[in-house]
Amino acid sequence: MSASPAQQLLELTFGYSAFRGQQEAIVNHVASGGDALVLMPTGGGKSLCYQLPALLRSGVGIVVSPLIALMQDQVDALRQLGVNAAFLNSSLDAETARATFLALMRGEIQLLYVAPERLLTQSFLSTLHDIEQRIGIALFAIDEAHCVSQWGHDFRPEYRQLTVLHEVFPSVPRIALTATADMPTRNEIVERLGLQEARQFVSSFDRPNIRYRVALKDNARKQLQAFLEAEHSNDAGIVYCLSRRKVEETAAWMQQQGWDALAYHAGLDASIRQANQQRFLREEGVIMVATVAFGMGIDKPNVRFVAHLDLPKSMEGYYQETGRAGRDGLPADAWMVYGLGDVVSMRQMLEGSDTPEERKRLEQQKLNALLGYCESTACRHQTILRYFSEEHPGDCQQCDNCLHPVETWDGTEAARMALSCVYRSGQRFGAGHLIDILLGKATAQVTRFQHNTLSTFGIGQSLNQAQWSSVFRQLVAAGFLEADMEAYGGLRLTALARPLLKGETNIWLRRDPQTSKLSKAERASRHKEAFAGANDDPLWQALKAKRMELAREQEVPPYVIFHDSTLLEILNQRPGSLTEMSRISGVGAAKLERYGDAFLEVLEEFAR
Ligand code: ADP
Repeated sequence: MSASPAQQLLELTFGYSAFRGQQEAIVNHVASGGDALVLMPTGGGKSLCYQLPALLRSGVGIVVSPLIALMQDQVDALRQLGVNAAFLNSSLDAETARATFLALMRGEIQLLYVAPERLLTQSFLSTLHDIEQRIGIALFAIDEAHCVSQWGHDFRPEYRQLTVLHEVFPSVPRIALTATADMPTRNEIVERLGLQEARQFVSSFDRPNIRYRVALKDNARKQLQAFLEAEHSNDAGIVYCLSRRKVEETAAWMQQQGWDALAYHAGLDASIRQANQQRFLREEGVIMVATVAFGMGIDKPNVRFVAHLDLPKSMEGYYQETGRAGRDGLPADAWMVYGLGDVVSMRQMLEGSDTPEERKRLEQQKLNALLGYCESTACRHQTILRYFSEEHPGDCQQCDNCLHPVETWDGTEAARMALSCVYRSGQRFGAGHLIDILLGKATAQVTRFQHNTLSTFGIGQSLNQAQWSSVFRQLVAAGFLEADMEAYGGLRLTALARPLLKGETNIWLRRDPQTSKLSKAERASRHKEAFAGANDDPLWQALKAKRMELAREQEVPPYVIFHDSTLLEILNQRPGSLTEMSRISGVGAAKLERYGDAFLEVLEEFAR
């Protein structure tokens, strides 16, 4: 059977031998004029789903993208493939914009990226009319479609007006795409973009190449340092912090330690943000220390780790933020440290904000789900997917809980002691003070409040400081205790605590592991699998250097030349001719012609 036009284009232009997941069905559906809503995780391969049908249909494909800063890279990547792509946004000077416009009118552009605010102007809509008449519009792709939802932090009001596209051009197919997994946002996209009739393509949201780990915060900086030294000494990654101040302090500290770290948050000057983002994208091994302001649409494929020094606000946030790791499908780490202090301060922050009561309750519930995840003893992949109403086939065998199963213990008695200590000392002290009472430590503070005379003084000596700390953390995380805003975060009982105190229910607690480090063997097997010892191989370094040289010459990020996965295949297959090179995944006709010889030369030098 001969290959379909879509398959031929996939091979020739993109250099891929097969479609992934639902790509083929999506491409065929849209290419034949259907509307589609595509829900696919980051790294799933969404771009192809609109790029291929745009090339298969006649006329120009219009791509609505919210991120001006990234359009250039997307267009560069397509041009490298030999596709005639262009973008229009406010960053272009008048002359370039005019040239693009003329090329568009001559029918020379196959894919046009436009910012929503530009697209919606009267003048652009009338331009679209002309284009439709003269050369045709292949499709409208609405990327990052979750921007229509005002509940996420990516809300873009202009997205809500995009329904005008369908009203004015009812016969042009639309394809909306997002990596947002939660149901309410999905429903909102359908409603706001008028996609009730569109066929929905929902992929699994599992990210099998991401290894999730949650460690107890002890000394966060030291823990981060140890994690990076052991596993990511030369890798690009993101370190998320909650506040702008912490971002700056952490970035400065990392620089002092010799890491190539940069800061990113919404309070920085736009020019600094832009410059730091560019360095992160264009150079190798840069670490971005950032607030959640950094992230949407960061399509750098080889982010090898995402580290959280503070808790995200919800499971949705955690999934999105960690999802920026390993877009290229190669192994990546999602690593987080957290402790009692984080639970208390996150709860306080939500409670103390001036959002309406109803919304606050919703946010508390979302935080609860995240805390439940942190404290969970089950497979991380399973826990995440279950949250998004999807079943995972079995244990992943690679997250912290699968590799080092967590023991649980009957914590009923300890919890009762802790709760009763909170109650008897007046429900306004922090965990440190409460633990002193339980352990029978007559500190100055304990004696000042005469807490050494309480019946709970010294009743908890069968557990040590760390174990009590773990008990309190789990009681707060599970909602038996809450932080009292009026009492500077002192702990007080909630309604849930009553049945436990009265002995009507039991509670099982997790026994915190001594260490969250992976053994050498665990690290090695993963490393071997993915990079086959590449980092120590001089040929790998030479291939990377060649890629960097070509990228610099053309002022594009290195992954626009070849992705790591393509470069790895070149390293492992060692193609000896252009024909052999063309069989490498990610080497299409245009890239073969442009770079085939350059990389063959590097290989030859090493063969000698
Ligand atoms: P998303 O936009 O969903 O995050 P991308 O479109 O950036 O994902 O694709 C993720 C990665 O997978 C990219 O490196 C892309 O080149 C690669 N990719 C996509 N489709 C295929 C395929 N059919 N075969 C091989 N690689 C693919």
